[in-house]
Amino acid sequence: MNAQTHSSKEIVRQARRRRTFAVISHPDAGKSTLTEALALHARVIGQAGAVHGKAGRRSTVSDWMKMEQDRGISISSAALQFEYRDCVINLIDTPGHADFSEDTYRVLSAVDCTVMLVDAAKGLEAQTMKLFEVCRHRNLPIITVINKWDRPGLDALALMDEIVDRTGMVPTPLTWPVGQSGDFRGVLDRASGAYTKFSRTDGGATIAGEEALDPASAAELEGEAWTTAQDESELLDMEGQNHDEARFLAGETTPVMFASAVLNFGVHKLLDTLVDIAPPAEARLDVAGQRRPVDSPFSGFVFKVQAGMDSHHRDRLAYVRVCSGVFERGMVVTHAQSGKPFATKYAQQVFGRDRESVDEAFPGDVVGLVNASALRVGDSLYLDEKVEYPPIPTFSPEHFMVIRAKDSSKYKQFRRGIDQLDHEGVVQVLRSDLRGDQAPVLGAVGPMQFEVAEDRMVNEFNAPCSLERLGFSLARRTVPDAVPTLARERSVEVLSRSDGELLALFSDRWRLAGVEREHPDLVLEPLVVS
Ligand code: GDP
Repeated sequence: MNAQTHSSKEIVRQARRRRTFAVISHPDAGKSTLTEALALHARVIGQAGAVHGKAGRRSTVSDWMKMEQDRGISISSAALQFEYRDCVINLIDTPGHADFSEDTYRVLSAVDCTVMLVDAAKGLEAQTMKLFEVCRHRNLPIITVINKWDRPGLDALALMDEIVDRTGMVPTPLTWPVGQSGDFRGVLDRASGAYTKFSRTDGGATIAGEEALDPASAAELEGEAWTTAQDESELLDMEGQNHDEARFLAGETTPVMFASAVLNFGVHKLLDTLVDIAPPAEARLDVAGQRRPVDSPFSGFVFKVQAGMDSHHRDRLAYVRVCSGVFERGMVVTHAQSGKPFATKYAQQVFGRDRESVDEAFPGDVVGLVNASALRVGDSLYLDEKVEYPPIPTFSPEHFMVIRAKDSSKYKQFRRGIDQLDHEGVVQVLRSDLRGDQAPVLGAVGPMQFEVAEDRMVNEFNAPCSLERLGFSLARRTVPDAVPTLARERSVEVLSRSDGELLALFSDRWRLAGVEREHPDLVLEPLVVS
């Protein structure tokens, strides 16, 4: 069934209805709680936290691997889809743990917009800033949500200053809090001047009460808290901090709203904002810089490959972002990198532990393809008209370990496992003649990638291995000419990555600065995120 069964007009209409986004945040800022609250509003699950299981706190629908359950964290990326107003919202989950991995970065290649979630008491934290850099690199528009306003935290205006100072983006609040952090009464809607008063419900398990009031009633009810909110909003007016669509889409400004995910306050407004101002799925640039219109025949690219999710099904799942046309389950598409056909009989929509077959998907949607061992991150799939999307960049590793087979009779399995992990992009595999093939170096953005790698080497490839940490924390791209000089430097090592990149590893930035001072002409360039 290779024929397109939808008219161009219908495909364009469906693409315009899509809002595909990810939430970026530092661990504990409330991403899982917000995801639950969004799902609750969309009535995907009847009660926040309806999927139980994890010790200590309610489990959310996006937690899934055993490792995640054991530790109460989220490693894998999944997509949550729901309808809101006349739109289809696709929320792509990102891993949230401190030891986060390249997956988090890769997810950002599949979305059209991001929500930066900030803990009101902590402001912009390290991981948020790292993810912000990737968004900036990809020109992704960013909506900022200041979360946990129900708890004492920083001053709202001080938070706005921090956003300007640390990101360079101008915050343009859409709502302004009535009541300081810790005393969250409601929000002033800056466009209309109206007041939305929030009221608590039982433990945030149901949608929060919202009451719309005109300014006069708000003044009467909230007194000074309302006047302060109005005064501060006027200050923002005077500074020109009002929403401007073009500047938002260009990444110059970030609309801001205030929320309490745990109480479900402000979640409605976030959904409305996504519908009203977030960009829909649009024509994507291919590797040659041409735009592929959304109503062209089906195309998409793999932004994540995951294996070993379920010990009962030893499957490999490739997540594909649909870029053009309609994906119809059962269609046979072409894998651009090999030119080979790929059958999509078992396409699935995946969220959390629940999987359902997906019958069709439009631009902006995500489909999971089962048994996708031929597909790797960055690969493109298409129907009829060939297209190749730009490769997803490999990010700068910050952690390094040598891996060795424990049992030399299992060397073949060891090789196969390493090659597979490399192929999937679970870890980056770095080699040198000096170290030989028996002891390659694994590089990762977050140390948890090593645990995933070790677990899979033992359980999936039957290749017990040992890992030994190396004292490097920084990688720079270099060229063959620089290798002899670098080889003479102490605590510096040059290794080659499977994509052909030569990486020089340094113990820390002081060591790097020392080498740069001594050899100012050496090529030592930062990788995408460092
Ligand atoms: P994640 O690591 O970003 O996914 O954060 P979680 O959603 O797991 O939240 C971390 C902790 O903060 C949990 O104990 C939540 O209950 C709590 N939390 C999340 N949102 C809010 C909020 O709006 N207000 C308060 N007071 N606590 C929150």
